[in-house]
Amino acid sequence: MADHFHHEPLNLTPVMPPTVFRWLLVLAAVSFSAIWSIDVSSGIISSFDAAAYPICVSSFLVTLALSFILKRQLTVLHFVTYATVAGYLISTSAWHHLAENGIFSNSTQWLGLNYVVAYLFLDVRKAGAATIVVFITTLGAHFAALIQHNTLNEALGVVANIAVANIIYMALLWTVLKMRVNGEIIQQKAQAMEEHALFDPLTRIRNRRSLEREMDAADQRWHRKGERYSILIIDIDHFKQINDLHGHMEGDQVLRDFADTLTKQLQSNQFFGRWGGEEFIILSRMDSQKDVFQLAQHLRETVERMQLRQMMKITISIGMSHCEEASNLVQAMTIADHNLYAAKHSGRNKVMDSQAAEALTRIRQEPSPT
Ligand code: GH3
Ligand code: MG
Ligand code: MG
Repeated sequence: MADHFHHEPLNLTPVMPPTVFRWLLVLAAVSFSAIWSIDVSSGIISSFDAAAYPICVSSFLVTLALSFILKRQLTVLHFVTYATVAGYLISTSAWHHLAENGIFSNSTQWLGLNYVVAYLFLDVRKAGAATIVVFITTLGAHFAALIQHNTLNEALGVVANIAVANIIYMALLWTVLKMRVNGEIIQQKAQAMEEHALFDPLTRIRNRRSLEREMDAADQRWHRKGERYSILIIDIDHFKQINDLHGHMEGDQVLRDFADTLTKQLQSNQFFGRWGGEEFIILSRMDSQKDVFQLAQHLRETVERMQLRQMMKITISIGMSHCEEASNLVQAMTIADHNLYAAKHSGRNKVMDSQAAEALTRIRQEPSPT
């Protein structure tokens, strides 16, 4: 139960499932091949791209194959994919800006992809650094290419254009990322708050609010679908004496040990929580009345046999009610409480349902033989 209160530090690594990664590699291989054939058929393919396209496509396919073999090194493969895309786009775009390579440039418009891919494939912090490196390299490479055959003003004009466009890409991506991180922080806080709202800090089992919610739902399912439930109110006998004899801290430890012991005895359809003080409730769903009674007896015996510190011994009294004998949840609780009272007054360390409680009353009311 301890893990309910433990919080992981915020994880900013994009969780890219292996299947998504593989589909993206297929998409990359297919789109590179498509553009390759468009360039070839329209006769605008440059010597640079004629060599680079097959290299990139093979790189994507090899990475795809490796992704099935190096299952633990997917982050490395993410980086390789990113480096392939960014390396290709920067170099081809810069190459096309060398004047003698002609006026057609099919690559500059793709440069923005470098920033998208960085945030998609890399850890947030690495992506930040990678985009800065890519940005500086992009500007430097294009300036170096342009200055060969253009005036300084012309070269700076083109580079400035690329710079502004790329800065917009980075800013927009950063905004999206910021929103995602904020969203995650809010979600994590909400989760922590929900846990605090539903668990008891001392015993780390469900608390009263959680029990109320679950009992409400069980009562609705009973009325709508006929799925039965029983309520067991458990009260530790003479618990005040534990505190008086051993101190409040020991008393707290007994409550924790008690909650742990009971938790281990329960199934997933048996919802266990602390109602308050030394009172606990088990909501049992789908078990028959007979099974619930047996469970209660078993729990009573288990607690009786518990080995506590300082040779302490505890017993419990259990009052139960079944959905069939109540017209609503409040009534079911009243009946269970009434039966708990009967268990206490017939000597404690007892399990009491309505039948047993009635039998007891009958015996008491019978006139004693004179
Ligand atoms: P009974 O058999 O009639 O139930 O007797 P009891 O002493 O268990 O009942 P009572 O209601 O008189 O006393 C309950 C005691 O439980 C009193 C209170 O000090 C103790 N208690 C309630 N909550 C806690 C807690 O969180 N820690 C500790 N150590 N004691 C608690
Ligand atoms: Mg009590
Ligand atoms: Mg008690």
